[in-house]
Amino acid sequence: MSPRSGGYNSVEMPKGAREEVRVGTPLTRRALIERGAALAAAAGLAPAFRLSPADAATRRCRPPRGFPRSVEIYRQGFVNWAQEIVVEPLWSCSPRNAREVVKVVNWAARAGYRVRPRGRMHGWSPLSVNPGANCRSKVIMVDTSHLDGLSLRARNPAVIRAGAGVLMERFLEFAERRGYGVTAAPAPGDITIGGALAIDAHGTAIPADGEKRRPGHTFGSLSNLVVALTAVVWNRRRSRYELRRFERTDREIGPLLTHVGRGFVTSVDMRVGRNYNLRCESITDVPVDELFAAPGSAGPTTQTFDSYLRRSGRAEAIWYPFTTEAWLKVWTVTPEKPASSRRVTGPYNYAFSDNLPIEVTEATRKMLFEQPELTPSFGNIQLTTTRSGLETGEAADLWGKSKDLLLYVKPSTIRVTANGYAVHCRRRDVQRVISEFASYHRRHLDEYRARGSFPSNMPVEIRVTGLDHPSEVGIRGARPVALSAIRPRPDHPEWNVAVWFDILTIPGTRDAVRFYRETENWMYRNYSPYALVRPEWSKGWGYGRDAAWDDQAMFRKRIPRSYKAKRARKSAWKAGTAILERQDPHRVFTSPLVRRLMPRR
Ligand SMILES: Cc1cc2nc3c(=O)[nH]c(=O)nc-3n(C[C@H](O)[C@H](O)[C@H](O)COP(=O)(O)OP(=O)(O)OC[C@H]3O[C@@H](n4cnc5c(N)ncnc54)[C@H](O)[C@@H]3O)c2cc1C
Repeated sequence: MSPRSGGYNSVEMPKGAREEVRVGTPLTRRALIERGAALAAAAGLAPAFRLSPADAATRRCRPPRGFPRSVEIYRQGFVNWAQEIVVEPLWSCSPRNAREVVKVVNWAARAGYRVRPRGRMHGWSPLSVNPGANCRSKVIMVDTSHLDGLSLRARNPAVIRAGAGVLMERFLEFAERRGYGVTAAPAPGDITIGGALAIDAHGTAIPADGEKRRPGHTFGSLSNLVVALTAVVWNRRRSRYELRRFERTDREIGPLLTHVGRGFVTSVDMRVGRNYNLRCESITDVPVDELFAAPGSAGPTTQTFDSYLRRSGRAEAIWYPFTTEAWLKVWTVTPEKPASSRRVTGPYNYAFSDNLPIEVTEATRKMLFEQPELTPSFGNIQLTTTRSGLETGEAADLWGKSKDLLLYVKPSTIRVTANGYAVHCRRRDVQRVISEFASYHRRHLDEYRARGSFPSNMPVEIRVTGLDHPSEVGIRGARPVALSAIRPRPDHPEWNVAVWFDILTIPGTRDAVRFYRETENWMYRNYSPYALVRPEWSKGWGYGRDAAWDDQAMFRKRIPRSYKAKRARKSAWKAGTAILERQDPHRVFTSPLVRRLMPRR
């Protein structure tokens, strides 16, 4: 099997590489390959942009010295899904197994290189690679696609072992064929298990009224399903990195379950439960005034977001800008197919939103950048398109196996950027948390509109999950997911759910950073003390004046404080990151963002 290419990311020709082709060595094979790859990529034909050492080496970009001979090295572009991070081809490798990963890591520690595991590059935050990285940055990208083993290790309770490079869709398919599934999963299937666990990937689900959690299932993130994992860590006695298996009861596993880019996991054992069938209804006619109504103003028949959660436990609102109704998806556990539902036998059933060539993003960007005042009409067009897409695709009422309803976003959807936060609160405060956000967001958009500015031109997404209670994994003495955004706070046992908010916009939209910064500050002010805000690691947060992930208050205060229980001596954040530091004292598994987030103390 060949290493994974850039997936659906069309790879632009990096600036540096283009100069290199022109100035360095005219008409070389490398030049032809780079140009060909870029053209093909631009046409959406060949997303891989990979150069062999012979083609890649130039005076400016020499191959790293002493790199293990048994592992092939090449240069490959790094472009994240939203195409906000586009760096010139970095030195990369694709180890054939975990032992080769260890070889690369030990070499890197000696040579002063960083090692960045690379999944599908589907994150927004630059946890892997900072914009501006180049082939001299002393970074080795490690494509994890060969870490692809999958096996059923136990049946009752069930455990699946997966290599960290296994794609989520393949994992769920494997589970499904054996009668297993999960309660909630991230919407895309095209992400790796290693990438998903790094950032405590989540879906949307809390118990409906009267619903009991099924054995082997969690209402928290995927990280809370980990029973054991194998990671590359430093052995002090032997002075080298090696593979070590951690059980869920080991103290040191906690921060590895969601390490936010500060580790290298090679395989995981995941708990799964018996699979079940889901129905997913799309509702587009409930006014947002009703859906997001303040709790006091809602009567018993008001169709609030909360009322759907009570009924089904699983809901997502997609609220396009300046629209008066949202696209509400409600998933209900439904053993038998209802007469009105359409049976589905595969995932990704919203073709109208999922199969958009990159040109659609480009055209949308051009239109909204040139005429931002079209944003309100565009919001309404998005809603109309959703309604007609649901109708013509017979997608408004679907039923099938859980995986086919839980996976509903393909990488070929419109490329957006997003901020992201999890707000912990009491179950009974969910509607309050949502209604306060909705009023603020509407006011905020209106204020900008009055000034002729439209910083968010894509929808808001709202989902609700439980927290990562370690008891849900069904192992006595299980350790908490130490750095999870939904790690419960022991001094607030009443906070038992999290509302996840994402505001989307086309990358590069004018005033977006300021708008996001104001929203972030409002959230921290508004939700304290009755709730708690933490960032969603894979998305945008920590907005400074000009950019995301740039606010010192976030790094120094807000994040560490949010993990500190009232009477605790130390923040659980600091305790967790100290463990990661011991596991990687050479800081091989860091990027500039990770170093800011987890400074050496
Ligand atoms: C369209 C879209 C929809 C999304 N929807 C959701 C959603 O519904 N829910 C949700 O939670 N998230 C969602 N995400 C975010 C996504 O889950 C994360 O960005 C995830 O990290 C992507 O995985 P990846 O395989 O692409 O990892 P990458 O982006 O390649 O890597 C992400 C991080 O994980 C690290 N990493 C990767 N592999 C390993 C490994 N083996 N060991 C240690 N670290 C590793 C990388 O170094 C990096 O720090 C969505 C993203 C997109 C683009």
